[in-house]
Amino acid sequence: MRIANVAGRACLITPTGGVDLFDASQGAFPETVDAAIGDVVDIAAWFRSIELDLDPTLSTTALLADLGRLGPPITRPPQVFAIGLNYADHAGETGFDVPSQPMVFTKFASSLAGPGAQVPVLADTIDWEVELVAVVGTGGRDIAAEEAMSHLAGFCIGQDISERRLQMASQPAQFSLAKSLRNYSPIGPWITTLDELEDPTDLAIACHHGDEVLQASRTKHLIFDVATLIEYLSRHVELLPGDLIFTGTPDGVGVGRRPRVFIQPGWEIRSEIEGLGYLHNTFVQM
Ligand code: ZN
Repeated sequence: MRIANVAGRACLITPTGGVDLFDASQGAFPETVDAAIGDVVDIAAWFRSIELDLDPTLSTTALLADLGRLGPPITRPPQVFAIGLNYADHAGETGFDVPSQPMVFTKFASSLAGPGAQVPVLADTIDWEVELVAVVGTGGRDIAAEEAMSHLAGFCIGQDISERRLQMASQPAQFSLAKSLRNYSPIGPWITTLDELEDPTDLAIACHHGDEVLQASRTKHLIFDVATLIEYLSRHVELLPGDLIFTGTPDGVGVGRRPRVFIQPGWEIRSEIEGLGYLHNTFVQM
């Protein structure tokens, strides 16, 4: 199942069309994805069990062609976790050692934006980081890795856009502020449940600027995989429905290049993960 935020309304979408969740269920399920996220298993069972007239303007194809209709699938997550240096090749390009335990920071929720959002270029050291984002469905504490995936509502794509100078401005460095500027956390295009994916632990992940491949890897190269991250995080904090986990970026970021490359006004970046769709963000002069 795929659940999207279309102009603020939770919609279930398929390749041929979709429905408004609240209307189609005659009020049995909530109006927003934020409110529905803990009930994804029940919603999926209901959606499978019923024959509905699908609105073709809510097909995945129609929505991908007009990403501006989509908001971030979760708009007010209780918590946003992000993991640094979680691909060995990325740790290497940035000059850091491969971490022995997950390196956790936050992206503040006010930075979330839709999959087609325009992003202001607020400095001359703005960088890209395509990431797999895990969305918590049912939370909890002390979740074992073996059970972790069943606590997820699904996956979406995220861009962890980063202002590198600000990221390294304090000693020791503190990442959260520099990764939380206006619209610096586009997510989407929607949430895909894991049963839609042949192998949720091994998805192609890539980021393009025009024809240029900026990043291309597979999520099987995560140092700490999604299940391990859920076990680790839930050992320390309670996970809550709607929490987002940005799982880290593969190599190919601008700060890792020689010479360094940063995003310029006018750039269009497409962030893609196998089976999840894509984001398309335009960077604009401020
Ligand atoms: Zn990141």
